[in-house]
Amino acid sequence: MAGKSTPMMEQYLALKREAGDCLLFYRMGDFFELFFEDARIAAGVLDIALTSRGEHDGDAVPMCGVPVHAAEGYLARLIKAGCRVAIADQVETPEEAKLRAKAEGRPSSKALVKRDIIRFVTAGTLTEEALLEPRRANLLVAISEVRGAIGIASCDISTGHMVLEDCPPDMLSAALARLGPSEIVVAEDWPSAGEDMILRPRGDFSSEAGAKSLQRLHEVSTLDGFGDFSRTMLSAAGGLIAYLDHVGRGTLPLLLPPRAIADRATLAMDEATRTSLEILESSNGGRTGSLVAAVDRCVTGAGARLLAEDLSAPLLDRQTIEDRLALVQFWLDRPIDRADLRDIMRGLPDLGRALGRIVAGRGSPRDLGQVRDGLFDAQRICDSMAAHGDRPDLLDALLPALTGHGALIDHLQRALVESPPTERSNGGYIADGFDASLDELREVSGNARRAIAAMEARYRDETGIASLKIKHNGVLGYFIEVPSRHADALMDPESGFAHRQTMKGAVRFNSVALHEEATRIAEAGGHALAAEEAHFLELTAAIEAVQRTIAATASALARLDVATGHAERAAEGDWCKPEIDEGDGLAIMGGRHPVVEAALASTGERFVANDCQLAPDNRLWLIGGPNMGGKSTFLRQNALIVLIAQAGGFVPASSARIGLVDRLFSRVGASDNLARGRSTFMVEMVETAAILSQATDRSFVILDEVGRGTSTYDGLALAWAVVEAVHSTIACRCLFATHYHELARLAESCEALSLHHVRAREWQGDLVLLHELADGPADRSYGLAVAKLAGVPPAVVARAQQVLQKLEAAREETGGLAAGLGELPLFAAATPAAEPEPEDDLAAKLQDTDLDALSPREALDLLYAWQRELKSTNP
Ligand code: ADP
Ligand code: MG
Repeated sequence: MAGKSTPMMEQYLALKREAGDCLLFYRMGDFFELFFEDARIAAGVLDIALTSRGEHDGDAVPMCGVPVHAAEGYLARLIKAGCRVAIADQVETPEEAKLRAKAEGRPSSKALVKRDIIRFVTAGTLTEEALLEPRRANLLVAISEVRGAIGIASCDISTGHMVLEDCPPDMLSAALARLGPSEIVVAEDWPSAGEDMILRPRGDFSSEAGAKSLQRLHEVSTLDGFGDFSRTMLSAAGGLIAYLDHVGRGTLPLLLPPRAIADRATLAMDEATRTSLEILESSNGGRTGSLVAAVDRCVTGAGARLLAEDLSAPLLDRQTIEDRLALVQFWLDRPIDRADLRDIMRGLPDLGRALGRIVAGRGSPRDLGQVRDGLFDAQRICDSMAAHGDRPDLLDALLPALTGHGALIDHLQRALVESPPTERSNGGYIADGFDASLDELREVSGNARRAIAAMEARYRDETGIASLKIKHNGVLGYFIEVPSRHADALMDPESGFAHRQTMKGAVRFNSVALHEEATRIAEAGGHALAAEEAHFLELTAAIEAVQRTIAATASALARLDVATGHAERAAEGDWCKPEIDEGDGLAIMGGRHPVVEAALASTGERFVANDCQLAPDNRLWLIGGPNMGGKSTFLRQNALIVLIAQAGGFVPASSARIGLVDRLFSRVGASDNLARGRSTFMVEMVETAAILSQATDRSFVILDEVGRGTSTYDGLALAWAVVEAVHSTIACRCLFATHYHELARLAESCEALSLHHVRAREWQGDLVLLHELADGPADRSYGLAVAKLAGVPPAVVARAQQVLQKLEAAREETGGLAAGLGELPLFAAATPAAEPEPEDDLAAKLQDTDLDALSPREALDLLYAWQRELKSTNP
């Protein structure tokens, strides 16, 4: 890389131009090297040394490198950090480069090895085991717009699952929140392209091209057999496939026939709802503490991925939900069979992902072994299932997918050794007895090795040098080595030995006989490798030929794992089978919050189960009560139970009857939500407005202290208006937790609203939170008791007590913060209650002060405070 423009530098820069904004891994010998800005970025992310090399335009070239054999680990870290990488590898050997140079009349000594970008590694296009999380799907998404309509193509290329959907423009962010893609591809003219979206040529997103690529890919002349695809869907598919073609440099990964999902086929949840319900990730960003972690008892990565998908997209179709529930019930009723099945599944390889690597051309002998073992176990599972009578429909539907690979399994079993290696270039993965000519080659090199061992003994005898050894290394191949002091005898030209190398303390020789045997080994070895390679390609092709049925087997196994996992969870936690109907009620008896319950259990505490019964004439519950009393927990547990039920799982309750919910909304008052960038109150209002425009009468809404993020009057007014709108305009099922007592007045005007509270009791001056839901309004605020519980100093609590008494007295007189609201016509603006005059205020304070209860110091402080107050209002 020295000088202004060496051929290597030119080659590098040309490749870098091709790589665009991807980091370029440039292969040099045993290393991938990065240069210039790429090197700075990679050195920072990977925490490796930044060095420099030669110069370019007069400046030293910053450089860093990673060893090729360890590249996967480094790639994983770069991808995690949001980088994309282009891999430029040598596509000819140095010998080939020399020949080429000679043919082109250039000096062969300076021949530059040809390099090409062989692949782009991006977050959405990974297949490597080491780069993927076993229990998480990895989605690549392409979005496209055709005349105002939006199509989404999503694909997990590690397993080939591909889904196409139409999406109303206002639901796009909700759809993306559901999918949680690792990478998003859009056309270059996409109007609202985020920073991390990949921009691709407009032409890639043509619906005709999309349809054509799908037809070609699946060798059909029409896509009708796969489903009903709109033009927007096909356009998105076109963009997706073109991108995959680009990053794979012409090699497409495993892509199964696309599935079309109709608009509104799943329970809609927007991003705010998903975040607040902590479905796949808890608020601290990890899986621990999330819903999926609390539900997941799957024993395979594929099962865990499917469960996460189920929970992200609960169903709206009652029959499908009930089919899933029936399969869970089936396994719940058969604990011993369930344990047996889970034992087998625990040992299953990740069949889908092994297949994905093989089809993407990145398969290893180990992946072939995984396909063999996965299919074999699937057959075993199928046989044991078939023995059961009264199988539920879903199980019957899964069975055919588990079987039918007999010939392939047999073939792979005969061809492969028990545990094939991940490295293919060294051979050793084809079993003895599979190929007679391969066996023969192995025999030849085995014989030659034995001959060499015998030769060593013979040479020791003949020369009388007991320390003579025949050794092997990568540079010299086989050679004879003796200590220097014995070397003279062998140096004699008549000795039959030829000198090769003098080392410190030892001298190395060759002999004609050794050379012959070594050549025999090398030749046989080379032929054996070639034979194994040919078998590898043949086995790969055999697997690729039935990729769809293997993928179906993998899916069926995952579905079984999810069902048995639900059954396991239900048995463990005494969860129940929810009843699903088309009505608009919701009756959850003895409901529990799966995450909070588990957290409490780990400290030995008991979770208090609570009921929730909503019906058309009592569909909005207003829930008051002290802070920390369990309001938020109650709201969320009911939303989560609906979600799990519609995903087809058993739920943490003693019984649950759920009228299908079409959309689920969860909103949390802004002060609980400080992590966001925008003004939190603004966020709260934007998100709340979305409910008012999107919820239907079949939706379920939980609102947790909405209106808290602003001053009391604004907050109360907004909360009031929102409750009214949800109650009277949307008329959906809703739980609303609030600390505004004043909202209780709404019960007078809203006939389907009822009041509830979480119970608390003062016991010997201390507050006891019972976490128990009761009917009726909260009788009083326990804020001060909670403050005491939280360790606020007694003097401050006592002072607050005085202030509170004063405020409550004033409320009695004026009717309080919500005075007059009872007579408000629906949706009229609230007029704030008049501020009390300061003098009256002070007089009232004085009147209310229990002078005997004050220490002299407190009395003095009070005097000062009042004087300040007076001065500030009457300067
Ligand atoms: P709130 O929203 O009323 O302030 P939370 O729902 O946040 O109260 O609950 C506060 C804490 O109380 C929770 O973290 C949990 O430890 C405990 N808790 C809540 N609900 C229950 C329950 N049903 N049984 C037992 N403990 C509960
Ligand atoms: Mg709360």
